[in-house]
Amino acid sequence: MILEILSHNFHYEMENLCRVFYPFEKIEIAHEPSVNRDGIVVSTKLVESENGARLFAGFFKGGRAIKSEKFVEKDIDFSNNCELNMAIALFEVLLKATDYVPSWGILTGVRPSKLMTSLISTMGADNAQKYFKEKLLVSPEKTKLAYSVANAEKKIIETSSPNSLSLYISIPFCPTRCSYCSFVSHSITNPNAKKLVPLYVEKLAHEIEITGEYASSLGLRLESIYWGGGTPTAISADEIDLLCRAINNSFNLKQCREYTVEAGRPDTITEEKLCVLKQNGISRISINPQSFNNDVLKNIGRIHTAEKTVEALEMARSMGFGNINMDLIAGLPGDTVDSLGISVDTAVARNPENITVHTLALKRSSTLVTGGGKITGGDITSEMLDIAQNKLLEKGYSPYYMYRQSRSLGNLENVGWCKQGYECLYNVFMMEECHTVLAAGAGAVTKLKQPSGQYIERIFNFKYPYEYISRFDELMDRKKRITSFYYSYK
Ligand code: SF4
Repeated sequence: MILEILSHNFHYEMENLCRVFYPFEKIEIAHEPSVNRDGIVVSTKLVESENGARLFAGFFKGGRAIKSEKFVEKDIDFSNNCELNMAIALFEVLLKATDYVPSWGILTGVRPSKLMTSLISTMGADNAQKYFKEKLLVSPEKTKLAYSVANAEKKIIETSSPNSLSLYISIPFCPTRCSYCSFVSHSITNPNAKKLVPLYVEKLAHEIEITGEYASSLGLRLESIYWGGGTPTAISADEIDLLCRAINNSFNLKQCREYTVEAGRPDTITEEKLCVLKQNGISRISINPQSFNNDVLKNIGRIHTAEKTVEALEMARSMGFGNINMDLIAGLPGDTVDSLGISVDTAVARNPENITVHTLALKRSSTLVTGGGKITGGDITSEMLDIAQNKLLEKGYSPYYMYRQSRSLGNLENVGWCKQGYECLYNVFMMEECHTVLAAGAGAVTKLKQPSGQYIERIFNFKYPYEYISRFDELMDRKKRITSFYYSYK
């Protein structure tokens, strides 16, 4: 597909919108009218005049031409209005060309609920919902979802204060690689990756200590801890214990309101590891089935079965874990609407406090995409999310956090559902950028939040474990910025 961007700079938004309708097309950008019109050509053009701008969108394929035109008057919000109306014009032509109605309309951003929150604060609840439906062309169902999430998040956001802090620990190792993964996680079955683990854990423990010193010298209050990855339980029980002790010795855990370890892959969960987590005060764990259909699990390169997930969950329950999350993914290869429904039912029957329903995202470097396998359509995935939503609402779960990934099927969302009182604080703090997140480990990103403002500064850790280990001192130099950042706001 050729996407013509003529006399405007809304390239990013237009390309995202084309991808919603044509997720599998390679999009080539042209800044001149293209001569080659053999394949699909989508054209967007702005013509400015003294009192406004004419916006043109067109879809051309063979002899077929679909066009839309808008006019925007010059006013204080001229540029934003042009972008909005260009997106609407493009949406109209792509809708006619494909007969596909994306439920999020022209909204392509990562955080729909954050936008809803900000609109509620500027124009009130009713107008914010109206804006979603009428201007952004979001369906009534998704508008309602964004509104519910915005309200649930608000209560959590209000508990964060300017000196709040959350801690993120990255374990970039997994037992095997899932077909949809583009993360830098190393498969622990690879001897070269396995060899790195002890040194990685040692450096990480050291980074945790240094991070704790920054937190205490700046008087920051630890609200939540989250271990993610990768699969944190891919490392041994002793290594987990060593890191837990580093955290216990470096931070004041008495103030910490939530402590999550994303155990993630059921095939890494053992009684010994759960015991270490329990002894070290971990209050919330994730055990992620992704699907309870064994054929689907095989399709995505998982080496565990649905039965293994249930076994891991029962073991965790018997050891007293009272706050468990389960992740499911809609749109996995070989899955169907019925089978996804069964996965939701199976998860619900186990009574987890949280169920997070993700939409599959087609990451460019994943084997799912590079291997060219069959991909589930956005319309089927949308049906899967509807079924999941209905079942979860019926069983007393409420949506409390939401985000979207780029390249997700049908531009659809990921939603955290929970039983009342079991909202994951870290998910909301991190997604809504409420306060500073100090992050340790390879691939982790520290986000420093201005104490009484919205400015965020990021410090990136090296992505790969070998680089993290070999350039550790350089990285710790970089992290000195934590102190100067806070001092610049004193
Ligand atoms: S468990 Fe997560 S991080 Fe690990 S390979 Fe699978 S998708 Fe990637």
